[in-house]
Amino acid sequence: MFKIIRQGEIYNPNFLGKQDILIYGEKIVLIDKHIALSESHINLEIEEIDAEDKIVIPGFIDQHVHLIGGGGEAGFYSRTPEVVLSSIVKSGITTVMGVLGTDATTRHLESLFAKAKGLETEGITTYILTGSYEIPVISITGDIKRDIILIDKIMGVGEIAISDHRSSEPTLDELKKIATKVRQGGLISGKNAILQFHVGEGEGGLNLLFSLIEETEIPIRHFVPTHVNRSRRLLNEAKKYGQMGGFIDITSGITPELGFFNSIKPSEAVKECLEFGVALTNISMSSDGNGSMAVYNDDGELDGLIVTTLNSLYEEFKDLIQEEEFSITDAVQIVSSNIAKILGVYPTKGSIQNQSDADIIIMDKDLNIDTVLAKGKIMVYKGEVVTRGTFEEAKL
Ligand code: ZN
Repeated sequence: MFKIIRQGEIYNPNFLGKQDILIYGEKIVLIDKHIALSESHINLEIEEIDAEDKIVIPGFIDQHVHLIGGGGEAGFYSRTPEVVLSSIVKSGITTVMGVLGTDATTRHLESLFAKAKGLETEGITTYILTGSYEIPVISITGDIKRDIILIDKIMGVGEIAISDHRSSEPTLDELKKIATKVRQGGLISGKNAILQFHVGEGEGGLNLLFSLIEETEIPIRHFVPTHVNRSRRLLNEAKKYGQMGGFIDITSGITPELGFFNSIKPSEAVKECLEFGVALTNISMSSDGNGSMAVYNDDGELDGLIVTTLNSLYEEFKDLIQEEEFSITDAVQIVSSNIAKILGVYPTKGSIQNQSDADIIIMDKDLNIDTVLAKGKIMVYKGEVVTRGTFEEAKL
């Protein structure tokens, strides 16, 4: 019931120094230099976790994961399978937001909802977005505004595809109508509802987004374009959008190394955005994990398919610090705190402070993951996954 993490160097994301963290159930209830237990506490069941010589940071939040699989763009055989718990937690991710993606014909929001509920039972925190790539936007209740208001897990709409040959070629007027529903749904439900855009390689880039900002009264914080590091031109547009005060989301699974030859390596893209003048708080990263990434040739024909891992988020977090010389505090914001703020769940999520959820990663000084706790439950211990999904084999 009680756990104490002893003497780790805490970045909450701000540096708090060496401290003990007391966890009760799912929550952090005390952070102090030394938490001593008096005799009256002896009968309590307390699990101690040694974090001496280690760093302690908030769990990662991945706001773009194809929880029930994605893809299917090369025929039915190319649909990727559902994600399993261990592949999420072994990467330090303790909160995920599920999205549908390209195929809303053979995949359904109801399945995504059920998968998210299942993962929550298995220990992590989950949200979902209603809709898919397409317009008119599909929903569970028949209306996206009703979805946002009536279904707790639904944090907004997405990923709506723009500037992509797989999109529904949405018009500005159609997007305006969707945006107003997101705005109204968010206001009524008390959520920071977002409208997340999958941005493709098309000529249009972020044009529709710039027009939405210009021609509506809807605050810019509701719109989150993702995959913006997929090309030089798109990243340059995203920098401008970020400088205007918009949130931009970089996809850790899109890298030149994985065959996206026009893309900018995620950790480098973050650095570029900062150097351009985008506020650190307006930049986030997500994995696009468990989806298939289609690689097309110049004629628009399918050249190959890649299943994206969630682990890229952790790898790029490491590179931010080890290659791009970011502080731990800044890097944690990109993969955790900023996303909690975008979704309006900070500091319950994305922080280590009194009354935050006990979503915690303990790493050694080389940034190897040692232990992961999700809502106080140990998912990874001494580098090994110890809590697996219901139907996972004992050892993968
Ligand atoms: Zn996408």
